[in-house]
Amino acid sequence: MFLLISLCMCGLLLRGDAQDQAVMWRGNDRSGQCQYTFTVPSPIEASCSQTTGPEVDSLKARVNMLEVTVDRLTTAYPGGTHAAGGPPTAGDRGSSWQYRPPGFQELKATVTEVPAPGSDGSTGCGDLISVGEPVTHRKADNIEGKYGVWMQDPEPVSPYGSNMIWRIDTIGSDVRKLFGYKDMEQLSKGFPSKVLLLPEQVESTGATVYRGSLYYQRRRSRTLIRYDLASETIAARRDLPHAGFHGQFPYSWGGYTDVDLAVDEQGLWAIYSTSKAKGAIVISKLDSHSLEVKKSWETNIRKSSVANSFMICGRMYTVASYTAPDTLINYMYDTATSQGKALRIPFKNLYRYNSMIDYNKAQRKLFAWDNYHMVSYDLRLGHQHAI
Ligand code: CA
Repeated sequence: MFLLISLCMCGLLLRGDAQDQAVMWRGNDRSGQCQYTFTVPSPIEASCSQTTGPEVDSLKARVNMLEVTVDRLTTAYPGGTHAAGGPPTAGDRGSSWQYRPPGFQELKATVTEVPAPGSDGSTGCGDLISVGEPVTHRKADNIEGKYGVWMQDPEPVSPYGSNMIWRIDTIGSDVRKLFGYKDMEQLSKGFPSKVLLLPEQVESTGATVYRGSLYYQRRRSRTLIRYDLASETIAARRDLPHAGFHGQFPYSWGGYTDVDLAVDEQGLWAIYSTSKAKGAIVISKLDSHSLEVKKSWETNIRKSSVANSFMICGRMYTVASYTAPDTLINYMYDTATSQGKALRIPFKNLYRYNSMIDYNKAQRKLFAWDNYHMVSYDLRLGHQHAI
């Protein structure tokens, strides 16, 4: 503040000095602080005495010093004089170096975090607020596991419990092996308790498990299969109408990821595209028993422009990049309102080749397969309120 007043004074002083007519005094005020006083004669007082001398020279030196200090401060805080906090004062408002970005608008929101489901009987639904750091559980043993899918049934059915983990390595010409692990520890050690040979080949990393069934896309087809884990037989099969397959509408990384199946609080979904949608993502709600399409939504985001997607509480979220170590969840489509919007939620690809990302509502986590590694991410869901 004192600097500012001094600067204003000096501006006047220098103008006066240019006319060679300024008169300066300096002394202490009542509080003991240094006080400078000056007088600039008006034209009609041109006959007044003129004063120059050591006081002016001293003040000019002080001005130079203050200018250097101000320069240093504005360089250190390019966002403005209040970057370090504190409201502006009356003196600040008058200064020329108060900074306001053009069109600046302050937006504020509060977030009420939604508790995990189960404790109070609620669904635990909410908006995705943030994604945690990836946690690595297991690295695949060989090239077959560069890409893959791993899953945990959010609503398990006997004989398999809620800790059971399922895994498919998806590189190879005959992808049919489904590995089951008793729990996370056994997955981490690489000791399966069950190995099933699926009757039909798996196309890619879009499989999911739900209520005792494995759901997947049959290789080189738009056929969806429901494989019953208890009886180890196919319980349903049905074409997903008009769905592109085998590289027609994959995610940006390719990998024949044309049909991505997902499970959330509302049930089973398919994320894919069709010729009619011209590559834009189509979301279909499926009957989890018969695989029939119950309802579809056409978004306006291209499937090939995003790395992957997942469903949470009836909303589809897309991940921008499968390789960038620091990327974003960049878009959300809400099937309840049929509206989409851009987002900027940070997301990390720790191993820089993420080939599968899915939501698990029971764990409230994302499961992902990143360049041989099975990883998971904690999530925060909440409700945002503008204030
Ligand atoms: Ca997915």
